[in-house]
Amino acid sequence: MSDTPKSFGRKSVQVSLKPRDLMSEKKLAGVWTARIITLFPNAFPGVLGESLTGKGLREGKWQLETTDLRPFGIGKHKNVDDTPAGGGAGMVLRADVVGPAIEETMQDTRGNWPIVYLSPRGKPFNQAIARAWSECEGITLLCGRFEGVDERVLEHYNVQEVSLGDFVLTGGEIAAQAMIDATVRLLPGVLGNDASTEEESHANGLLEHPQYTRPAEWMGRSIPDVLMSGHHGNVEKWRREMSEKITQERRPDMWKRISDA
Ligand code: SAH
Repeated sequence: MSDTPKSFGRKSVQVSLKPRDLMSEKKLAGVWTARIITLFPNAFPGVLGESLTGKGLREGKWQLETTDLRPFGIGKHKNVDDTPAGGGAGMVLRADVVGPAIEETMQDTRGNWPIVYLSPRGKPFNQAIARAWSECEGITLLCGRFEGVDERVLEHYNVQEVSLGDFVLTGGEIAAQAMIDATVRLLPGVLGNDASTEEESHANGLLEHPQYTRPAEWMGRSIPDVLMSGHHGNVEKWRREMSEKITQERRPDMWKRISDA
């Protein structure tokens, strides 16, 4: 039995424990928590263990728990999937496997705690969703594999579907990490500078202005004079204008939403 940690943050528990034990160990009360149902728990925390999200995890600013789908599998071989009803290519995750994993994972959730299936058919993820999730107690993300999950389990647990974008991944794990990253950086104390999330791209419906830092001259290119002027009002005005120009040029759809509002 490997001793891979199944929970990350200040505490960790081992796979030698039963799923029930995994869910009753750990836990920092009142801390924003992502719970992931996946066939690949070792893929977590992945990139979320690095840099500011990793520091926040180690400091208990948020926590991450995985539910391994495999032990919920059927029979000696712990099968989790079967062929699609009606025929066709690929395999489908079984409702009688995913259902018990959802029950186990959701059993002691508190307050406002959405359950989401990562899916290319879902509502496209965006900054507003990240903001809303950061204001919940936590979130449960179900990662699909193969052709996806049996529709009945989504209906029964009223699972929302959310997409990372209009493309198809082989599994939900990368999408889960991307969405958790976007959410966790909005939690108090994770970035260390909460003001930086107020002005960045998408926070106010605009894309961000260009950024520069030292050296003042590079490859014959200098930093725009206004940024070196020390005139705060002019800097703000320039940034706002650049932000609007870039949004108009690159994202007419976003620009239209602002002008219509
Ligand atoms: N047959 C499905 C695709 C399955 S891809 C379809 O055509 O809709 C396998 C798994 O990868 C999915 O169950 C889902 O969890 C994940 N996935 C694939 N693309 C995704 C995307 N754009 N956003 C979020 N999750 C995605």
